[in-house]
Amino acid sequence: MNRIVFAYRGRYWVRDTRVLETLSAMAKAAGHATSLAYDRDLFGVSDNVLSLPRLNRLLFDQAAAAKKAAAAGPSWVVLLENVHNGPWVERFLSDLWRAGYKGRTAVLACRGHFAADVSLYGEPEKAFGEFLKALPAPPAAITAPGPSDLDALPLPDHGLFAGYEDFGASYMAYAGRGCSGSCSYCEEPFYRSAYGPGYVRLRRPARVIEELAAVRARFGTREITFKDSVLTADKAWLREFLGLYRRKVGAPFKCFGRPDAFDAETAALLKSSGCYCVEFGLQTLNEGLRTGLLKRPESLEAVKKAFAACDAAGLAYDADYIFGLPGETLADHLAAAEFFSGLKLLNRIKCHNLVYYRGLPIADYAVREGMAGEAALARGDFFSGDRAAPAMRGPDAGFRNLFKLYGLLGGRGLAFAARSGLWKALRFLPGAAVKPPELLAGLLRRDRRFFYYLRAYPGKVFRRGGGPD
Ligand code: SF4
Repeated sequence: MNRIVFAYRGRYWVRDTRVLETLSAMAKAAGHATSLAYDRDLFGVSDNVLSLPRLNRLLFDQAAAAKKAAAAGPSWVVLLENVHNGPWVERFLSDLWRAGYKGRTAVLACRGHFAADVSLYGEPEKAFGEFLKALPAPPAAITAPGPSDLDALPLPDHGLFAGYEDFGASYMAYAGRGCSGSCSYCEEPFYRSAYGPGYVRLRRPARVIEELAAVRARFGTREITFKDSVLTADKAWLREFLGLYRRKVGAPFKCFGRPDAFDAETAALLKSSGCYCVEFGLQTLNEGLRTGLLKRPESLEAVKKAFAACDAAGLAYDADYIFGLPGETLADHLAAAEFFSGLKLLNRIKCHNLVYYRGLPIADYAVREGMAGEAALARGDFFSGDRAAPAMRGPDAGFRNLFKLYGLLGGRGLAFAARSGLWKALRFLPGAAVKPPELLAGLLRRDRRFFYYLRAYPGKVFRRGGGPD
């Protein structure tokens, strides 16, 4: 029996945490003991509620999780690399040695080379399965090609993060993995090419339901958020899945859709199955940028049809919008404001900033065109920082705040603020000042995600301490 500590930095609501829960379940099934060294990155770049990275650095010991892992004295510390956390993985390993760790280390790497005892290449569950088989003396590198059989994996070990997350309030679900799109700014195509053919797939509906029913029975889960990049891609699968979901789970849920994989039947199916909101990646109203630069898979026409299908079905929707696109102009934001103002059941405009992650096509483009230096790659996140052209920083700041206030202003207020030039005043509003009205808008609209934030976030800061545990 080995004692394995998984190390992780960042918020819980992302795929990596579910992967670690599954790896933990696999390790336990093989007779090992597991635990977690967790840096929640409170106020850090991955904190989607209040991202204040300087405050994070000021308040918290960045090496605390590594010290905790070392103090636990496990035989193995296992880390998971993703598109943007390579520098953290390197730093964690150094901190671990500095803290006197005497055990061994393994990194599940998607592309990097690290100073770890063992490097595991391939889809994490597949590579980790090979690692478990090779214990106690695995080779320095294990490569496991091909996708893992998601249906054959054990259900996640919720105990790993249970001390940090309230699974009764909300549960993060994944029905499958990947997306067939090739958007230039997105990590999905990167993983698809890193892990090879077969990466994009869904689990059997009955297996997903088994997990959700078990979670509901154990935690009394009141809401589910499907974090799959696209839940609506396969309509036959969706019909079968939602039929089971209605009968055996029944909790309200949120999910992501893709406009080219969405029609009136999809909207009606979701609505009648308890979906309270579906999120779409719009990103920009500029058709040239959408298709030419971002390589979005669908036309604006398809977006409009998907939104109209939701309106007709009485299903609320969120629209993702990215600021800082190369070549974007003020006219694009004005057009977006006009478009948003005419939508019936638009719940929220989710504002993101473009990030240049090393290895993604849009980052290569930005470096080639002199829009970003090597140092800018992998810095920042979707919620903070601004990599826009200097002339666009003012309009971006004004419209970012305006779009965040959509929930309070409504379509008419949004249109008025855009047409009258009121947005120019909003550019001076600090991001933190927009949070309270944004929260208020979410609560007034009875957006379940905001009730979850309101309930969970203060607890993270005050009840359970704020730093790495
Ligand atoms: S459609 Fe969405 S998830 Fe798929 S590649 Fe594009 S941005 Fe990524």
